[in-house]
Amino acid sequence: FSCVMLRCLVSRCLLTNPVAGQTRKMSGGRLAGSQSSLAGKVAIVTASTDGIGLAAAQALGQRGAHVVVSSRRQSNVDKAVALLQSEKIQVTGTTCNVGNSEDRARLVDMTVEKCGGVDIFVSNAAVNPFFGNIMDSTEAVWDKILDVNVKSAFLMTQLVVPHMEKRGGGSVVFVSSVAGYQPMQALGPYSVSKTALLGLTRALAPELAQSHIRVNCVAPGVIKTPFSQALWQDEDVVDEFKKQLSIKRFGKPEEIGGVIAFLCSKDASYITGETITVTGGMSCRL
Ligand code: NAP
Repeated sequence: FSCVMLRCLVSRCLLTNPVAGQTRKMSGGRLAGSQSSLAGKVAIVTASTDGIGLAAAQALGQRGAHVVVSSRRQSNVDKAVALLQSEKIQVTGTTCNVGNSEDRARLVDMTVEKCGGVDIFVSNAAVNPFFGNIMDSTEAVWDKILDVNVKSAFLMTQLVVPHMEKRGGGSVVFVSSVAGYQPMQALGPYSVSKTALLGLTRALAPELAQSHIRVNCVAPGVIKTPFSQALWQDEDVVDEFKKQLSIKRFGKPEEIGGVIAFLCSKDASYITGETITVTGGMSCRL
């Protein structure tokens, strides 16, 4: 097959099938018209100035969504916005501590005001103020963990849903953890909060399906971020973990970001109430 013949065939195909030429058109370097495209969508990702949240914002933005990034510190927000802008991603940034009700309301109001609505919500924020035997954990520890990791995930969803309904539907993704299936030693209360997100996903999905809103969850294994530093900086701990992994390395934030973007795209239009584990083969459920 010569080059000339090949070119001839391609141009004939484009002439007889005008759509074929259009679906591959790139908009700002992104594939428009494909099932994975998020062009025209507005996505709020909480705790999105570092780690998995930032990677989720990048993955959504690379697929054409306008992403709204936030975290507690303005300097972190500024850095994330500058990074995403340098990658030609449409981005708006603001501070938001998800544990604070005024911050939550401001984040959603600002998004609607500046971006015209909300289509995607990724609830990624979590804290872990406690390492040790679960019997030594205090009421203050439980209040903090449940407030930030569970209650705020629900309360943010409650705030965004009316805006998704106005757009005819949407997608919510909670970031849980492998620890939600198999509690990690010394991380009891945190693990329980992550199990609660599996339940929240199941509780919300049937109700919100009526509004064409899908609710899903990802459960990452150990991903190399500042949050999991204690796990990947200690060589003995790393070796111990590797025994449980089929893929013998820790995950990268972008390996979670891509799964989140998939769940928010048309590719996942028949998936709801589901949790995808992304663990490098760490066994945590059948
Ligand atoms: P990370 O790299 O440490 O990033 C944490 C981000 O959260 C930062 O942008 C931080 O910015 C922000 N943040 C912290 N507290 C916040 C709050 N109260 N409100 C708003 N933003 C807040 O963390 P990560 O590892 O990506 O973790 C993200 C999610 O993945 C969490 O839900 C975590 O439980 C889950 N996860 C992580 C792993 C892992 O191995 N890394 C495994 C399973 C699940 P500021 O400091 O500016 O607020």
